[in-house]
Amino acid sequence: MPVIRFPEKFLWGSTTSAHQVEGGNTLNDWWEFEEKGRVKERSGEACQHYERFEDDFKIAKSLHHNAHRFSLEWSRIEPKEGQWSESALLHYRDVFQALRENGLEPIVTLHHFTNPIWLAHRGGWENRAVVEHFSRYVRYIVDFFGKEVRYWVTLNEPLVYVYQGYIAGIWPPGVKNFEKALRVIRHQLLAHARAYRIIHTVAQYNGWPKPFVGFAKNFITFYPCSPRSLADRLSRWVRHTFFNQLYLKALTTGKLFYPGLFFEKHPELEKTLDFVGINYYTRDFVHFGGLSLPEIFGNICSLEHHASIGPRNSLGWEIYPEGLYEALREISRFRLPVLITENGICTEQDEGRWAFIRSHLFQIHRAMEEGISVWGYLHWSLLDNFEWAEGFKPRFGLMEVDYKTQRRTIRPSAKKYAEVCHTGELHVDDKTYTSRRTSSQCERM
Ligand code: BGC
Repeated sequence: MPVIRFPEKFLWGSTTSAHQVEGGNTLNDWWEFEEKGRVKERSGEACQHYERFEDDFKIAKSLHHNAHRFSLEWSRIEPKEGQWSESALLHYRDVFQALRENGLEPIVTLHHFTNPIWLAHRGGWENRAVVEHFSRYVRYIVDFFGKEVRYWVTLNEPLVYVYQGYIAGIWPPGVKNFEKALRVIRHQLLAHARAYRIIHTVAQYNGWPKPFVGFAKNFITFYPCSPRSLADRLSRWVRHTFFNQLYLKALTTGKLFYPGLFFEKHPELEKTLDFVGINYYTRDFVHFGGLSLPEIFGNICSLEHHASIGPRNSLGWEIYPEGLYEALREISRFRLPVLITENGICTEQDEGRWAFIRSHLFQIHRAMEEGISVWGYLHWSLLDNFEWAEGFKPRFGLMEVDYKTQRRTIRPSAKKYAEVCHTGELHVDDKTYTSRRTSSQCERM
């Protein structure tokens, strides 16, 4: 069986986010949304990671991880506007210490979908004031923890946040309003750029090693529903340009380009990325929906495609490892290093998880062989957790969580992944090499 090798300093680990694992995050807008019955399950105690983090990190260490991405919960740290919670700060200080003790490089996300309730009640990300609020929070965090952190992720999947909260309306604030969505995008970009400068300025002032600041981009590889249809190809292009490129273009060139809508110059956004975080899960097929807004973005028809295009996870998302290679190639145009900040599968069959990890690592390596700089791989997720509007059913963890007892069980796939983390080597069989390179040719049912 051929062996492929990853570089010695490669970051190996996994990712979590506060609201999905900590439990008891009563002060954020997601909790409020859950209390109002807007989603089918409440996060409640989640995985009690707020109390059990030390044991969880020990397990990560035993699995040979050398890095861990997690998010700080803004609503715990600043429960009321301008008031900082000492107990929350001390808690996260212990988290940093536990990470270091277990040899895990902290990769810190500053915003992973949740907002303090006080902020949400002031219009959240629709209100331009969010830029000042976020900057003040970032400043506070960097002063407090900056010495501990080399890798910063400002915002997790900003466009997913916008899409779910302002277009689909299924996440807080639960509205469907395209104009508001565009406003939120602008504020996110400005908030990111400010955070970028704050982190660098504070580090420089204190003489700390140069930090690396990026954001986590959810990348979906889009294909036209029918490759022969010009209309489908147009919708695919619009969707790809908007979804996959808008933030990256804006934060590298300072040009904010909404395809078919308008173009703006924002010099303050320019060159505010040291790396790109990629969260990659699946590809989608796009079907022409019309020429007006928002129809121009096309309709997603992935679920209507034949099952033969590839296996799916338990939420119905197609497993398409080549898409990660395609994403890396696409992003290499921006000439920035990449960190895989998330990649994972929810499944009841753990063998599928190992096959998933192996095939995606193979595609990463393939891109690296072509000269694309990838710093590391962080699997989603360390443990089963609260999957937002989908509740606790989808199982994404390297560790299984029994929510009745909070007992953790290491899955076999986690042990196989641990071998790769330990040796930096991956054994690939012929099937992995030739995996479905031609699978883009498919028709709707
Ligand atoms: C998000 C996670 C989520 C995962 C699986 C990513 O979009 O950052 O919060 O649990 O995907 O859906």
